[in-house]
Amino acid sequence: PARIAGIDRRRLTGITARERRRYAALRPKSRAAAERGGTVFLNRVPMHWMRDWPMPFPLVVDRAEGAHLTDIDGFGIDDFCLGDTGSMFGHSPKPVARAIRAQARRGLTCMLPTEAAYEAGRLLTGVFGDYLWQIATTATDANRFALRVARAVTGRAKVLVFDGCYHGTVDDAMVTLNAGQTVNRPGLVGQVTDLSTLATAVQFNDLAGVETALAGGDIAAVLTEPVMTNSAMVLPGPGFHEGLRALTRRYGALLIVDETHTISSGYGGYTRRHGLDPDIFVVGKCIAGGMPAAVWGLAPPVADRFAACDAMRPPGHSGMGTTLSANPMQFACLAATLSEVMTPAAYARMEKRAARLEAGLAQAIARHAAPWHVLRVGARVEFVCAPGPLRNGAEAAAAHHPDAERALHLMLLNRGCLIAPFHNMMLVSPATKKRQVDRLIAAFDESLAELFAP
Ligand code: PMP
Repeated sequence: PARIAGIDRRRLTGITARERRRYAALRPKSRAAAERGGTVFLNRVPMHWMRDWPMPFPLVVDRAEGAHLTDIDGFGIDDFCLGDTGSMFGHSPKPVARAIRAQARRGLTCMLPTEAAYEAGRLLTGVFGDYLWQIATTATDANRFALRVARAVTGRAKVLVFDGCYHGTVDDAMVTLNAGQTVNRPGLVGQVTDLSTLATAVQFNDLAGVETALAGGDIAAVLTEPVMTNSAMVLPGPGFHEGLRALTRRYGALLIVDETHTISSGYGGYTRRHGLDPDIFVVGKCIAGGMPAAVWGLAPPVADRFAACDAMRPPGHSGMGTTLSANPMQFACLAATLSEVMTPAAYARMEKRAARLEAGLAQAIARHAAPWHVLRVGARVEFVCAPGPLRNGAEAAAAHHPDAERALHLMLLNRGCLIAPFHNMMLVSPATKKRQVDRLIAAFDESLAELFAP
């Protein structure tokens, strides 16, 4: 096509090349570090996702504080990626840094609780509600363990997920819809099982599809985000969550709500803000202020059912847990985050600045007549390089224009603003300043002026 996301293709190619040259020319130290240090890593990076950034070579970080990064070439960058939510409350929030320093002298991991563990548990219930909690290290693991429990208590095999979802590297959820059939995602590495024996994919916002799947009687749980945040952003339609809750109850499936990203919604997450009532609640990433931790909680009736299964279980491995999970450093950071960082006041600041960002981006989109739109879930803002609203993962996939998005991300970075790779997500932390928001709006506006110049 002559146009990508409404942008002239040749202009896009030219701008991309220029921005890549500009990035590279200004970062001799990052380039040298990546060239020297990369050779021992598979794919030259410590984790292969780092190849998915739009830069020709990685930005090497010197330090990250608040909502600001400094790279080793000395550039200051306003960080709106915030570790893709791990640092949603800012880098190294002071109470968390203090907790880390204090715990560092008292042991890092010992497979036993500390007093802070019980404090963290009380705080989790206070913030998120009445669940019986377990602590894991990643949201991926929390979802995997939640799925085991769901299968154990229902005696059913499958999980229902929404096309285009992401819940971490949970094998079972790595399916997609192809001509109405659930199939393995094509890019999976070393995938030897047919995941459609473990999962059924349905389109988000399609309650009739959900009902058809549940009526088969083999779905243990629906695993969903309250808002689809991982392929563009798709909001639930009116009545979707009520319908999902009613249908899961009617057909005896559990409802697992993964709040790992929608924790941006406000205090207590989307669940508290919108009165969802999941059977299992999962959240990770920023829950311990950036220290690797995740939690999953069972609603009391599910916990009772699980206790009955657990009592019948022969001794041996449960398939749940990892050695370094629920360690003293996590307890200290969870307690500090939940009591001093993830506060209603912090959310109020985030919300206000995020609303400013949303409005500024929407104005720029309108000013340059880009066929795009912008959405927000609390502190999480996403622009989509296609008209909206999107109703499901299929529409979200069609709205994704990697070439245009990568060019724009580089333009923004070369103007001092980092946003998340893969799609167009920006997070506003309590540390994010108004002037940082305004700088991103200005960079976006300037970039669109060039991309959409007549
Ligand atoms: N759930 C959701 C909704 C996510 O977006 C992600 C990661 N993007 C995860 C779970 C997995 O988190 P982690 O990679 O930290 O395991």
